[in-house]
Amino acid sequence: MKTTATFCTIVPPHILDKLAQSEDPAVSEPARRTLERDALLRTQRRISAGRGEAAPAGTPSDRPQRTIYDAAQQDTLPGAKVHAESDRPAKDQAVNRAHAGLGATFDFYLKAYGRHSIDDCGLPLDATVHYGDNYGNVFWNGEQMVLGDGIGKVLLDFTESPEVIGHELTHGVTQSTANLEYFGQSGALNESVADVFGSLVKQYALGQTADQADWLIGAGLFGPAIRGVALRSLKAPGTAYDDPQLGKDPQPTTMDDYVRTSRDSGGVHINSGIPNHAFYLVASALGGHAWEQAGKIWYATLTGGELAADADFADFARLTAATARSLFGEGDEIQAVLKAWSMVGVPIA
Ligand SMILES: [Zn+2]
Repeated sequence: MKTTATFCTIVPPHILDKLAQSEDPAVSEPARRTLERDALLRTQRRISAGRGEAAPAGTPSDRPQRTIYDAAQQDTLPGAKVHAESDRPAKDQAVNRAHAGLGATFDFYLKAYGRHSIDDCGLPLDATVHYGDNYGNVFWNGEQMVLGDGIGKVLLDFTESPEVIGHELTHGVTQSTANLEYFGQSGALNESVADVFGSLVKQYALGQTADQADWLIGAGLFGPAIRGVALRSLKAPGTAYDDPQLGKDPQPTTMDDYVRTSRDSGGVHINSGIPNHAFYLVASALGGHAWEQAGKIWYATLTGGELAADADFADFARLTAATARSLFGEGDEIQAVLKAWSMVGVPIA
C-alpha cells in the first residue's frame, strides 16, 4: 500500500509563528524550536515514507495494547519504556493520561464502528510523552503518537486533551484507509476527519449528545492568560481564540471565506473549518449521539474504499450523500447531509 508523507501536528504553524514573535523569550524560543523541529520532522517523514506501513500485529483483540514511553525532554524516539498495558497507574500523570487517551480512542472505534485499533488489525498503540525541550506540539509520525509538554504558560500539557489524542490517532486511521493526500482540499479533509473523530472520541467517552458537546479541539490547552477556548471549533469555526499572542482563529465556515495559502500544506488546518462545520450541521440537525448517524456516514465514507486520495470537498460531499442514502435510505439523514453541504457552500448537484 502506498504511504503518503503525512506529518500531522495538532498545533498549526500559524499559531506557532505568532508565538515565535512573542516578546517573552520563554515563549518565543520554544515556539521557534518547535517550528524548526516540525520542519525537520516533516522532511524526515518525507524521506522515510515509502518504507511501508507498520505491520499488522496478530489477531485483532477487543482490548488495546498500549505502551507509553518517556523521552525525558530529549528528541530521541521512542524514549524509555515506562508503562505497559497491564501496569498499575504510573506516578507521572502525563503517562496515565496518555494511556487513558489511547484507550478512549481504541474503545470509541471498536464500540462505535467495530474497528480494531487504527489499522483494524489490532495495531499496538504506542505514545511518547515529555518529548523535546518545551516542544509545543503533538503528532502522529506514522507509527506512534508523540506528545510535547507545551510552551510555558501559553500551550499546556497536551495529554490533558482526549480529543487531541483522538485526532492524532485518526490520522493513523486515515493513513490506513483513504490515505488522503496532505495538501490543499484533500489535506483539509484529512485534518477535518481527524477533528471530527477526535471530537467524537470525547463525546463518546462522556456519553454526550450533539447539543451537549463542546465541539472543540484542544479545549483546556491554553493557559489562563490566553483569550481563547481551544485550537479549533467545529460548531463555530473562526471563534476558538482571539489573542494578542496567538492572533485570531483563521478558520472559515463556508467556501466564501476559503483561504488560499502555500503555508501549512495549503492551509490544511485552516480550510478544514468548512468540512468540520458541515459535519457539525449534520450532527446537530439529527440530534442524539453524533457518532450513531452523522459519524457513521463520515466513517463509512472515509473507510469504504471509494474516497480517492486526492478527493476535494465536492468529491467528499457527494460521497457522504451517497453513503447516507445507502446506510439510511431517503430519510432525515440524507436531507441533513444535503442541507449541511449547501450551507457551507459545497452544494451537491
Ligand atoms: Zn492533524
